[in-house]
Amino acid sequence: MSKLIATKAIRGAHTLVKRAEEELRLAIQQKGPAAKVEFPNTGYYLPVSHGILGMDIQSLEGLQELLEEAKKLLPPLPTDKLWIPYLGNTLDAGMAALFADEIIESIKYTQDPLPYLIAANPDEEHLWIGAADDIIMRERGIEFVDGTAPGFAACVGYCPTNEMAVKIARELQEKNLYVFMSAATDGKSMAQQLREEGIQLGWDTRLVPFGDDVTATVHSLGFATRAALSFGGAQPGDYQRVLRYNKNRIFAFVLALGPVDDEKHAQAAGAINFGFPTIADTDIDQILPSGICTYEHIVSPVPLEKIVSKAIEVRGLKITITKVPIPVAYGPAFQGERIRKEDMHVELAGQLQPGFEFLTTKNMNEVEDGKIDLIGPEINDLEEGAQIPLGIWVDVAGREMQSDFEPILERQIHDFINCANGVFHMGQRDINWVRISKEAKSKDFSFRHFGTILHAKIHGEFGKIADKVQVKIYTQEKEVIELRDIARNVYKLRDDRLADMTDEAVDTFYSCTLCQSFAPNHVCIITPERSGLCGAYNWLDGKAAFRINPTGPNQPVKKGKVLDAEKGQWQDINDFVFQNSHKTLEIFNAYSIIEYPMTSCGCFECISGLLPSTNGIMSVYRDYTGMTPSGMKFSTLAGTVGGGVQTPGFIGHSKHYIGSQKFISAEGGAKRIVWMNKALKEEMAPVLEGIGKKEGVEDFIHKIADETVAITEEEVLEFISKKNHPALAMPPIF
Ligand code: SF4
Repeated sequence: MSKLIATKAIRGAHTLVKRAEEELRLAIQQKGPAAKVEFPNTGYYLPVSHGILGMDIQSLEGLQELLEEAKKLLPPLPTDKLWIPYLGNTLDAGMAALFADEIIESIKYTQDPLPYLIAANPDEEHLWIGAADDIIMRERGIEFVDGTAPGFAACVGYCPTNEMAVKIARELQEKNLYVFMSAATDGKSMAQQLREEGIQLGWDTRLVPFGDDVTATVHSLGFATRAALSFGGAQPGDYQRVLRYNKNRIFAFVLALGPVDDEKHAQAAGAINFGFPTIADTDIDQILPSGICTYEHIVSPVPLEKIVSKAIEVRGLKITITKVPIPVAYGPAFQGERIRKEDMHVELAGQLQPGFEFLTTKNMNEVEDGKIDLIGPEINDLEEGAQIPLGIWVDVAGREMQSDFEPILERQIHDFINCANGVFHMGQRDINWVRISKEAKSKDFSFRHFGTILHAKIHGEFGKIADKVQVKIYTQEKEVIELRDIARNVYKLRDDRLADMTDEAVDTFYSCTLCQSFAPNHVCIITPERSGLCGAYNWLDGKAAFRINPTGPNQPVKKGKVLDAEKGQWQDINDFVFQNSHKTLEIFNAYSIIEYPMTSCGCFECISGLLPSTNGIMSVYRDYTGMTPSGMKFSTLAGTVGGGVQTPGFIGHSKHYIGSQKFISAEGGAKRIVWMNKALKEEMAPVLEGIGKKEGVEDFIHKIADETVAITEEEVLEFISKKNHPALAMPPIF
C-alpha cells in the first residue's frame, strides 16, 4: 500500500488524539473528573468504545481511559528513511482516530448550550443533530436487518455545486441507502448544501446531518457498532464480532467529497476497520487490494456523476429497485417526507375534504390490467393551494386472490404512495390525507400517477396473488361520498370478523419468525386475540401472509392438545416453538407474564413488567424516554427483555394486545395495570374505559399511575393505595 496514504492517516490520527487530549484536559479542569458524559438516551454508552473495547464510559474520568487506549494504538509516524508499507499500522491509526472522535464528540454533550439538536430531524435554527438515540436506533436499525435499507453512505465534505449535492443525495435515497453527513471543509458541507436547496433533512428522509466537525463522522461508525450489538448478537468488547458483522451485514461506504485532509484520511482508515471502503472524487492515493473490505479499500478519483454507482460496485451492494414509471424520484427514503403548507400545490382529503381508500377483489373478466381512470379534476385544473376530495378504489383480480388479503394489500397504499418524492400520505381507509408539493407538480406528477404507483407496486410485491390491477381515482365530492359509504360497510365487516374471533374458535395459530434475523431464537405465536408483538401482524395477516408466501416466516401451527387453557398452553404449539427456537424453549404460555411467557425479540411496541409490591404491572410504550417504576428506562428494559429469551415477569407486546381479553389473563388481565406512561395511557383511554366497564371498576383509567404522579415503585404503591386500585384486592400475582 502507499506510504503517502498511510502517512496521512497516521498523521491525522495523531492530530485528533492530541486534540482529544487537550479538550479533555480543559473539560476536566472546568467540570471535574466525575462530570457526567453520555450520548442522549442510549443504553450503549459511547458506542464505539463500548462495542470495540467493552468500556462503559459515564464520566470525563472514563474518557481518560479511552484516551490511553487511543494512544496505545497510535503507530509512530513513518520516517523518511525506513518504512515498510503495512496496512495494520494504518488500521490501528484509524481506530485511534475513532476513539479520539468519540472523546471529542462526547465532551460536546457536556457543553451548554449543546451544539446539537436532540431530535430525529433538524429544525429551522439547528442543522446538526449528533448521535442517534436508542429509539431511532431500534426503528432504523431494523431496516438494515430486514433489508429495507441495504446500508449507508457516510458523506464527508461537500460537492462543487449544490445541484451536485442534491443529485448525489437523491441517487442514494433512490437506492434506499441512508446518507450520513459530517465534516464540513472550509465551513462547507453537503448537509448545508442540501438545506440551501430546501431539501428536507433528518432520519425521516434518511438524510442525516450528524455534525460539521470531522469528528462527527464517528456517529456513523457508532450507529454501525450499535447495529452489531443490538441485532448481530455481539457482546460489548467482542470487537471481532462487531467488525465482522459490519463487514458482512452493513453495506456502508464513505464518500469523500472535495479536499481530503489528514484527519479525513484517518476517518477513512477507521472505516476500513469496519469493512467500509472510501470513494473519493479528488485524486488521492488508492488502496486497491482487498483484505478488510470485500473489494478495494480506497478508490479515487471518481467523477461525481459516477461516484454513487462506483461506491455500490466497490462495496458489492445488491440493490433491487422496482422501477415505478412516474416523473418524480421513488423509494422508501421519501416515506418520511413532509410537505409544508407553503410548499404544497394541492391537498386531498384530510380533515377538510372527504376521502377514502379501498381495495377489493374482482373476477378476472372484470379487471383490465393497468387501467387507470380519473373521475374529476386533474392537478392541472386546480389553483395552487386547492383542497379537494380523494377516493382511491383499487380492483384486484388473481387466481390466488382472496378477500382475506384485501386489508393487507389496502394497508400498503399508504407506503406505496408515500414513497414518491414530493407526495405526502397519511392515514388509511376513510381518514386518508394527501399533499402534493409544488416541486412534484412542476415535474408533471399528476393524480393519475397514484394509479401508476399502485399498479406497479402491487404487481411488484404481490405478484403471486395479484394478476390484474385497475385503479379509479375520484376527486369530486359526490362520488367520493357515495363510494365511501360502500367502503365503510366493508371496513366494518372486516373489523367485526376479527373482533368476534377468539382463540378457542380456531384450531390453528400462525407463527412469525421474521425477527430471527436479529433475535435468532425468537418465535411470535400470533393468535386471534394476541397480535405479533410489533403490532404489525394480526392472525388474519399471518394467515394471508402464509398464502402469499407459503415458505415464508408466517407458518400455520395447529394448536393440538390443550395442556393449560387458562395459561394458554397447547402441545403442538410447544413442539413448534421448541423446534423453531432452535430447541431453546420447551414450554410457552400465551397468556401469562409470569410463567413461561412469550419471548421478546426487540421490536415490541410496549413492554409490560411486574411491580411486585403493587401486585400489578406497568406498561410502557417504546417512545417513552423517561424512567419507569421498574428502575429502568425503556432502552435498558428492552436490552433485558429482548433478544429472544423468556424473561418471567416481563413481556414485549403490541399496543393492541392491551385491549385483548387474553392480555395476561392467567394473572387476571388488564385490571393488573397500575402504571402506564402518560402518552400510552391517553392513547389507550377508550380501551381502558372499556376494561373498567367490563370489570365493574369505576374510573379505572384514573386509578392507573403515570410518570406525572409516580416514577418509583413506592410512589406507584402510594398512588394506587389512595385510589383504591383493583389490583390491590386481587389474589397475589405470584
Ligand atoms: S415482532 Fe413478531 S410478528 Fe412482528 S415481525 Fe417480529 S416475529 Fe414477526
